[in-house]
Amino acid sequence: MIRLRHLLGGTWVDGSGDGTVLRDPATGTPIASSSADGVDVGEPLAWARRVGGAELRSMTFRERGELLASFAEKLREGRAAYYDAALANMGANKRDAVFDIDGAIAVLRYYAGLGQELGDRHTLIEPGFDRMTRSDEFRVAHLLTPRQGIAIGINAFNFPAWGMFEKIATATLAGMPSLAKPATQTALVAFLMVRDLYEANLIPDGVLSFLSAGGRDLVDMVGEEDTLAFTGSADTAMTLRSNRNLIASGARFNAEADSLNAIVALEDLDPASLESLVDAVVTEMTIKAGQKCTAIRRVIVPEELMPSVSEQLVERIKALKIGDARNPEVEMGLLVSRAQQESVIAGAALLAQEGESLLGGASSVEFVDVDPQVAAVVAPSVIRISDPSSARLVHQLEVFGPCVALMGYRSVSEGIDLVRRGRGSLVATVVTDDDTAFAETAVALGSLHGRLSQLNSATAAVNPGHGVVMPQAIHGGPGRAGGGEELGGLRALRFYCQRSAIQATVPVLESLAKEAAELA
Ligand code: NAP
Repeated sequence: MIRLRHLLGGTWVDGSGDGTVLRDPATGTPIASSSADGVDVGEPLAWARRVGGAELRSMTFRERGELLASFAEKLREGRAAYYDAALANMGANKRDAVFDIDGAIAVLRYYAGLGQELGDRHTLIEPGFDRMTRSDEFRVAHLLTPRQGIAIGINAFNFPAWGMFEKIATATLAGMPSLAKPATQTALVAFLMVRDLYEANLIPDGVLSFLSAGGRDLVDMVGEEDTLAFTGSADTAMTLRSNRNLIASGARFNAEADSLNAIVALEDLDPASLESLVDAVVTEMTIKAGQKCTAIRRVIVPEELMPSVSEQLVERIKALKIGDARNPEVEMGLLVSRAQQESVIAGAALLAQEGESLLGGASSVEFVDVDPQVAAVVAPSVIRISDPSSARLVHQLEVFGPCVALMGYRSVSEGIDLVRRGRGSLVATVVTDDDTAFAETAVALGSLHGRLSQLNSATAAVNPGHGVVMPQAIHGGPGRAGGGEELGGLRALRFYCQRSAIQATVPVLESLAKEAAELA
């Protein structure tokens, strides 16, 4: 059993008692434990704000980028151990583990590269000095300086590596120290990664702190210059968002919550585009066993396309090997815990009440190397919703596992309306061969989506994939998806900076601009 500890005040500390036990989801065997009982976070936070903040602000963007590049390089060396840990703690197969761990390394590298581009500067400035009065000489510019607090990142159980490092990468490049808190039940990978960086002496004092459990009082400790970036369920987002101290302090808050992402076909598709649609749905259902915030939950197609979509989908899924990913033939791994298994089975049963189950239940597939009475294994569910416009649950309930609902529509406007009933999503994929129709749909769906992706037989090879979050593109969504925004290249740095309108003479503005990197 590994004991996970916390990196606070520049040293490793442990909580008292047995704490939470982390288990192998294939066998239920305990693999690690973590406790934050009795651990003082307040003083180490104050130290990190002071020491880590000063250190990062003294570094230029180029130097911060070099720090991120050194993290990426060290983590690349440790990948094999992290893959093993992801398998042991999450039932993740190699593809799932790569998605999370290599995804973390890729995002660090990307922001390292942006640091090089920003160069030897410490601040950011928006282009242009605007006139405010009749004077040509006294104008305004908008300058961005790093907030002198700490960037707290609280993460969900499904992305212990990527979720943690996409927040650390952006905060570090902006010039803020971080405190990272993974979800306790899957914290092993995150712990090993931070431990490796620490042991390689790569973490300057106070720049990165880590809490492997607990953190319930973090929101009570945030101050006016802190940021709190949360990823997880809508319920927890609401608890944090409504915290009195968070509101009173004016600390910045960003939420990435759950989402009923859709894929919608705009017309009767040719066989190649239909195959692209089915491929996307199978991929999204099976990577991380559907435990992905961006996974497709709703498949919306013209009525006449429904028979071929459902037939091809069921056929593809039935052929999958599902089970313990220690067997290299396994194509879909496990859920992270028996509690998740229970929740997915119960959620799929509820959705099936609004239609017909085309596939689902343990008897529908053959599991590989697992005892379904012990392992957190689940068979994928494909449910056809009978009357999508009057159905309720399918537009409200996120089943966080391999479960999709199929919905047929009679007119394109009805199809668009069904997509919008997700009430705010991270991403929707629109399948069409018609570029004009895609552009019109992007406008119709834009207000309720963080990302919209065009798919057809021609774009399939170059589209990164419905559920793949690229650091160049913003990640987040309005409404039930949390209303937040992360990544998106340099846009992400705004969250960690204060923008100030500097009203001064043009020579003063020019001297500030000379020392700052331009942020369009
Ligand atoms: P969760 O139960 O809300 O927990 C998320 C994180 O919040 C965990 O680290 C948890 O710590 C912590 N936490 C819970 N209550 C807290 C409190 N009162 N104060 C401070 N921290 C608290 O969510 P989850 O079950 O881990 O994740 C699944 C959900 O996340 C799904 O709904 C999924 O859609 C969503 N998700 C969204 C995104 C996105 O980018 N939009 C990405 C991934 C997942 P403990 O583990 O210690 O309880």
